[in-house]
Amino acid sequence: MASFTLHGIPVSRGIAIGRAHLLAPAALDVRHYLIEAEQVEAEVQRLQDAIETVHKELQVIWKDLPQDAPAELGAFLDVHALILSDPMISEVPLDIIRARHYNAEWALVTQIDELSAQFDEIEDPYLRERKNDIQQVGERVLKVLTGTATALSRLSSAEESTAQVIVIAHDISPADMLQFRDRAFGGFVTDVGGQNSHTSIVARSLDIPAAVGMSNASALIAQDDWVIIDGDAGVVIVEPSPAVLEQYRELQARLMRERKKLGKLRRTPAVTRDGTEIALFANIELPDDCVAAMEAGAAGVGLFRSEFLFMGRTGYTNRLPSEDEQFESYRAAVVAMKGRPVTIRTLDIGADKPISTVEETALNPALGLRAIRYCLAEPQMFLAQLRAILRASAFGPVKLLIPMLTQSFEIDQTLAMIEQAKAQLRDAHKKFDPLIPIGAMIEIPAAALALPLFVKRMDFLSIGTNDLIQYALAIDRADHEVAHLYNPLHPAVLYLISNTIATGTKAGIPVSVCGEMAGDTKLTRLLLGMGLREFSMHPAQLLSVKQEILNSDLTTIAPQIRKIMRAFDSSAIAEAVDQLRML
Ligand code: PEP
Ligand code: MG
Repeated sequence: MASFTLHGIPVSRGIAIGRAHLLAPAALDVRHYLIEAEQVEAEVQRLQDAIETVHKELQVIWKDLPQDAPAELGAFLDVHALILSDPMISEVPLDIIRARHYNAEWALVTQIDELSAQFDEIEDPYLRERKNDIQQVGERVLKVLTGTATALSRLSSAEESTAQVIVIAHDISPADMLQFRDRAFGGFVTDVGGQNSHTSIVARSLDIPAAVGMSNASALIAQDDWVIIDGDAGVVIVEPSPAVLEQYRELQARLMRERKKLGKLRRTPAVTRDGTEIALFANIELPDDCVAAMEAGAAGVGLFRSEFLFMGRTGYTNRLPSEDEQFESYRAAVVAMKGRPVTIRTLDIGADKPISTVEETALNPALGLRAIRYCLAEPQMFLAQLRAILRASAFGPVKLLIPMLTQSFEIDQTLAMIEQAKAQLRDAHKKFDPLIPIGAMIEIPAAALALPLFVKRMDFLSIGTNDLIQYALAIDRADHEVAHLYNPLHPAVLYLISNTIATGTKAGIPVSVCGEMAGDTKLTRLLLGMGLREFSMHPAQLLSVKQEILNSDLTTIAPQIRKIMRAFDSSAIAEAVDQLRML
């Protein structure tokens, strides 16, 4: 096949070279035909064999579940096994083949459609959710019947476990992305998505080359095609010529050598040439990420996105993690960081981070009941999380970070609930740090423009540039159609960031940036020049940022920053920011 190149949005650095593995779209279009009477029993057998194969496949997946897989994944697989054994799936379609002479795929789809229609009638959202389980089980059987292996079974088979697999999909949810941890998996390409969508953020945290917003990559790339992902350029080369392949192999080897060299900076303090100390923290999704954070020499965790403990929980145990389960996870992170502070952000769900127990009905979820708004609307759930975080603070330094605060009454209510959680723990004789620092994410423009509301009542601020840019520019961070307008260097964005750093610093409270801008080496000097002294990013980005800091001199950067802050032309700003790297 001829080689071709696709252009999209770069989201995670590095070069990946491997064979394409297409994740089949959820709905399978099956062939419909009538079979002869004498073929009926053979067709029945074909369906029975497929069901048996899926039973075995589920067992293999169960056995191969990574240690850090969400606790409910096992239960979820059990539910699928139960559905598969139920006569409604294991017998009724066989009767349909016998009675109507449908081919096996058609018979199965007929029954699944029938069941789905029945589930649609059900009021109870929990039971209605089971419709998805039935459809997923049906799809697994159909994939066996039609000869398209499922991603998980393919990836877990022994011969694939050492090969580089490049996943090509229309879309991958952040929760599904997490499931790819620990699997032989070299990179991923999706048709949709933005640079700072949560799926992309998880890819960066897994340190896997990735490109999104590739429009129709999943239609153009065929199963097992050779694929190169250039994660820095956001380019995918399909069926490369031997010369191009060789060139990229060399580039890949060079990047690996550079990375190894960076490893030497692990213990070097992050100090600029003029002697200014900078603190570099890690962003994590799950407690296990602390290993990478420690390996990168992070000063602590600057952002623990606690919502990842709540996501991807389906099946019978479709519920939120209990206070004790959460406490164990938070404590695990605190213990793993060995005395370095762990900043735990309270639940930030909604928009592109749905959780299965919360039905998303808002017309515009990014502007809806997200993050702290949701928590204040669910006080019992919020109190349980606050107690879990507070209890973890008895095991090492913990900071509490609240997402999406905007209004003064939200601050009042949040602080009151933290006091209530503390009182409940005192009553229960449970230990916690009574002086736990409380901080606000500054990620809504209104917050960045009304900082006096925050600086008097908060112990620290953390700028969430991902959302700050989204809301300041009215650009959905996950929508590839408007990705070219998502501009961190827009003068309004720069004003909001620099105003927050200056106001917080003047008030004597620490300010960090924990959005993706903090890990972008092209922006390190800009942020340093704006006065930023705390950065929080994926562990994989930490040493490159440190290298940039070690080579920076604030005295030469400062005058250039003043010029940038006075400019309004985006291309002039971009050029001036590039120039900073030459200083
Ligand atoms: C942000 O908005 O910049 C941020 C760090 O939070 P999240 O990406 O999880 O929304
Ligand atoms: Mg945010």
